[in-house]
Amino acid sequence: MNNSVELYIKVYDVLNKEVKQMELEELIKELVAATMPLTFHIESLKSQAVIMRTNIMRQMKIYGGKGVGKGIGADISTDYYPNLMPLESYNEVWGKDYFNNLEILNRVTEETEAQVIFLQDKLIEARFHPVCGGSTENSENVDGNIVNYLRKVLCNYCKEAVYYKEYKDITLDEIEKKLGVRFIKTLPIKNMAIEEMFDNITRDEEGRVVKLSIAGKEFSGKEVMELLELNSTRFSWRPEKIRFYTRGKGDGLGLCLYGSNEMACRGKKYDEIIKYYYTGVSIEKIEKVSINCPLKGKDIVIDPGHGGDNCSDYRSSTGHREKDICLDICNLLKESLESLGAKVYMTRSEDVNVPLSERAYYANKIQPQFFLTIHQNYYSEPSISGAEIYYYRGDIEAMLLGQKIMEQINNRVGLINRGVRPADFYLLRDVKVSSLHIELGYLSNDNDLKLLTDDMTKKDLAESIAKGLLSYYL
Ligand SMILES: [Zn+2]
Ligand SMILES: [Zn+2]
Repeated sequence: MNNSVELYIKVYDVLNKEVKQMELEELIKELVAATMPLTFHIESLKSQAVIMRTNIMRQMKIYGGKGVGKGIGADISTDYYPNLMPLESYNEVWGKDYFNNLEILNRVTEETEAQVIFLQDKLIEARFHPVCGGSTENSENVDGNIVNYLRKVLCNYCKEAVYYKEYKDITLDEIEKKLGVRFIKTLPIKNMAIEEMFDNITRDEEGRVVKLSIAGKEFSGKEVMELLELNSTRFSWRPEKIRFYTRGKGDGLGLCLYGSNEMACRGKKYDEIIKYYYTGVSIEKIEKVSINCPLKGKDIVIDPGHGGDNCSDYRSSTGHREKDICLDICNLLKESLESLGAKVYMTRSEDVNVPLSERAYYANKIQPQFFLTIHQNYYSEPSISGAEIYYYRGDIEAMLLGQKIMEQINNRVGLINRGVRPADFYLLRDVKVSSLHIELGYLSNDNDLKLLTDDMTKKDLAESIAKGLLSYYL
């Protein structure tokens, strides 16, 4: 695991009618598992990871995609991907291969990290299908419009695939029903010849077949009765079923999955496979809104509350001081935000007293996207615990960000959500950009204090705030 905070995607769960957040790479793993057998060659699975990442990012709003319409506020919807299920659910399906398969999926995403398929400056719509049956298809023959990278290519790679050559018998009744058509009813006609099959039929006056030729060979009615085990020589016939022969499976657009596997087995790498099936494309690490720098271009001012020996910060019964804990968390927060590409300013970076008016002046000079002042709370009743976030009345952006941050703090660290509320504090009023006053826990509560004095939890708190910012922007 690298130390950068992961990129999140909003997925609309059609079944439960709710939007959930997912780490993008987790979703890619689920999509690879849902669209391909994991017994396929690793290079083929890697090409699929790049394909799914491309398709997903193409839809993400942060990359200029449309997302899911109707004001749902999600990037993708589960109804596009009916087979999608959480990796835990594969436990029974995969049995003893479960952990091995998870390893494969990790490898597949790590070794293709951030890679997507471009044609010129645009992410392509990376179509694929199970088996092409010898050649893929030009887009205009399937969808009606010409797409430069969806050109017909020959594929000699899927010959061994199950669906390469198949047939299906369909009765005339079924065809009529499904296509909404009506055939002229061919009743069993006594002397109906079927060209090159049944011919030269002679019957006696009773209607019994005396002789006929089948596929050019002459038989007596009795021979046919015996050889085909019919009940009588008084027989007639009509076609009841049509056998449809198919080659391949799917619409033939883009990449042939079985072909991709076979290419990999013959030594081709995932990028070669992708470039074979998608005409003229290139594979690039996505940089424009970089997966590692999604907060690029954002300025954030962090204000560690209080500071200096004589300040009026809160102190726990164990002697821990708010000013120190705030500074620790803010330093970690700075690190987290910088790793996401944000430019971070601090009103103080050491244990000094900075007057509130100076903090406001500093923030107003920089004009950041957000000003965040970080504190801990204290109350005479020690059972009170949790986090509170305040914004200046009417500042909708700050309120939304506050909710995102609270969600993260609550989920990840387990601090109780005591609300995101408007307030009229000095800094909220005097700093002229969107601002939040964040109270992370109560120094008067034993459990909160334990969390706030633990180095891992401080890091979690910092990352929760960073993730809150990230999900606000994504
Ligand atoms: Zn093929
Ligand atoms: Zn404070």
